[in-house]
Amino acid sequence: MNGSVAPARRVGEVVAELEISRAWLVDPAAGREGPGEIVVSNGVLEAVTWLEGAEAEGVGPDGIVVAPGFIDLHAHLREPGNEDAETIASGLAAAAHGGFTTVCLMPNTEPALDEPGVLARVRAAATASGSPVEALAHGAVTVGRAGEQLAALGELADAGIVGFSDDGACVASPTILRSALLYAGMLGRPVIDHAELAELTRGAEANEGYVATVLGLRGWPAAAEVAAVERDLAVLADVLRDEPRARLHLTHLSTAGALAAVRRAKAAGLPVTCDVTPHHVALSDEWLAGARRWAWEALDADGVARDPWVDGALAAGPYDTSLRVNPPLRGPEDAAACLAALAEGTADALATDHAPHTQVDKEVEFGLAANGISGLETALGVLLAAVEAGRLTLARAIAALTTGPAAVLGSWPGVVASGGEAGGGRAGGGRAGGIRALARPRGLVEGAPADLVVFDRSDRWLVGPGSLASKGRNTPLLGRELPGRILLTVAGGRIAWEDGGTGSDG
Ligand SMILES: [Zn+2]
Repeated sequence: MNGSVAPARRVGEVVAELEISRAWLVDPAAGREGPGEIVVSNGVLEAVTWLEGAEAEGVGPDGIVVAPGFIDLHAHLREPGNEDAETIASGLAAAAHGGFTTVCLMPNTEPALDEPGVLARVRAAATASGSPVEALAHGAVTVGRAGEQLAALGELADAGIVGFSDDGACVASPTILRSALLYAGMLGRPVIDHAELAELTRGAEANEGYVATVLGLRGWPAAAEVAAVERDLAVLADVLRDEPRARLHLTHLSTAGALAAVRRAKAAGLPVTCDVTPHHVALSDEWLAGARRWAWEALDADGVARDPWVDGALAAGPYDTSLRVNPPLRGPEDAAACLAALAEGTADALATDHAPHTQVDKEVEFGLAANGISGLETALGVLLAAVEAGRLTLARAIAALTTGPAAVLGSWPGVVASGGEAGGGRAGGGRAGGIRALARPRGLVEGAPADLVVFDRSDRWLVGPGSLASKGRNTPLLGRELPGRILLTVAGGRIAWEDGGTGSDG
């Protein structure tokens, strides 16, 4: 294969034979990228060959790229409870179309995933879907996510959940957070917190700032996130004295202040990790007014936000509800901080916070619209846009989608689980107190089931309603062309998604 994919195969089918020659391989587990070739046979990655000298000539990072399958730490697939918005089957198809071979489902379903019975339903739906994408799940921290009583964390861990989160809301009280960090630590799982002090965000509609003021929307102040992060870090530091395995992961951080707090905590040795989302990295609150430029284009040479009303950036109507998300899209300076955190590694992972909604839930007044952006299928394209703009290296973008999230799931700080050692390690390999969260090794590992994504950076695709596998069409990127058409996703040696090759979308 050299840019074109063989005749269509069925989803779930074992990849009998596949050869990709003269491509750009990116293997963050081995810390390597460059020209190479791979051979898959009967679902197994038989050979990974790095090319050198004359053989490598003409193969660059701007064409066909082969990388390990992506891992999403944070996706809402809406089943059980809201199958009109998404099902496990449609969500896993969307994941595969986005290059993801593992997704972690958030527990804010109806009922909430707060006991093993709900996990069994989720797993049954994943199996029935026929998708080879690995569906992992986080369990709720509190019963019904009500914030009052700790869920049966031990039972959930035994059943196989990979983390605990009351996402959609912050773990309500510091007392409960303390207990959760303690027990989750004993169980080898991270507590994943959505950092938001609810007292500060009641009735909030948009990021507190200039745009919200002009548009007459109620503000969600950065302080609500920063204060929650500071609270969580203080509780974590305290718990560590009793349970050194306690671990905190902060999800979808969106403000410079919160990321600075995490940077300081990491420097001080606290076992904290965090992720940022594609939309907080690449979009900013001026989109609510109608601007449609990338966040890095909304800053002047001094790093100060431009005024979209003054510089003619308004290209669409205001109050597009596909932009309503929690935490809200921030100003361009905060978006730049998210991107910088991703580039330098303060943000360990990119997580999509894929949040599909029905049209009914979005076709209302801005402040009444459901929060969330459908994001699994556009995550790679958004990151590649940042790579094209010179804001991020390709290697770092891929690491944030692979070894970064694997390490969050599968290791304790200081324990190599993302495969840093020579020869390609096994992410989530379950050593020294870590857990074995991931069924498959991460990285281009010879002899392991093939788990990889193939995309063409020289090709672009139009994000249109007809080109999305998700039921959730609630993305502000509809109608936009993104770089990096995904040609093939292979999960556990099986076809997860394959480009139809028609070249038409939408
Ligand atoms: Zn959240």
